[in-house]
Amino acid sequence: MVSVIKEQYPRAAVLNQRPIHVSNRSNVLTYLNVFDRLQQYYAKATKQDLSLFSFNSKGACPICKGKGLIKLDLAYLGESSSLCDACYGLRYAPEVLQLKANGLNIAEVMELSAGAFLKKFPIFAKEMRILQIVDLGYLKLQQSLDTFSGGELQRLKLAQFLFNKESDILILDEPTNGLHEHNVRKLIDRLTKLISKFGLTIIMIEHNLRVMGQADWLVDIGPYAGNKSGKVLFSGQPLDLLKHGETSTAKALKQYYQNSDAEKG
Ligand SMILES: [Zn+2]
Repeated sequence: MVSVIKEQYPRAAVLNQRPIHVSNRSNVLTYLNVFDRLQQYYAKATKQDLSLFSFNSKGACPICKGKGLIKLDLAYLGESSSLCDACYGLRYAPEVLQLKANGLNIAEVMELSAGAFLKKFPIFAKEMRILQIVDLGYLKLQQSLDTFSGGELQRLKLAQFLFNKESDILILDEPTNGLHEHNVRKLIDRLTKLISKFGLTIIMIEHNLRVMGQADWLVDIGPYAGNKSGKVLFSGQPLDLLKHGETSTAKALKQYYQNSDAEKG
């Protein structure tokens, strides 16, 4: 289905559930390509060598080599890791931690949330506001992406799309997959905000009835799911499908709204 839509709108961006490649060394700043610019900012402000501000390079803590953790191989207990005693997980060498910009060293910056960071470093406000819009503003900047939940990674992908914004059309492939009803509501709220804030057109391939009912325009394709699906059975506003539709989607949608009306009493 996504490929069919892509043929019609080649410029559209696709966000799917595919996991992104993450490691212990990636965080929101590296993912959004902000970290390089932060390091440059520090090099300029402190008049020091740029490589000092990278924990993958000269600036790394010499004991843990910038990992922040020490791996322990405990014969009976298997592999485990503990916080590095030398840098306490900060990843940097002690001399780098002496260097400050805007009152903070670079490890202290990584302890901040997006909201606190944008106050201290307004030049990164655009990126940090986008993190807040996708509800990732609470995370510490240093948190490595391999500790993110699936939902947090999806929102991070969305943040990257909004930041680069190479298209006004966004295709979402079953974004409610595996979400609890409560989170489906949150997702709808978030997408509604994105539409008004960024002027996006969002095309969703979706089976969730709540999402269908909230759409501005609904295209019902069937009668079967998947590649054999075939024909457009209905195209229009959800309310029209409810009133006049005879498809299985129309029936399910009717049932859904009757049930939720009954719940409301
Ligand atoms: Zn260390």
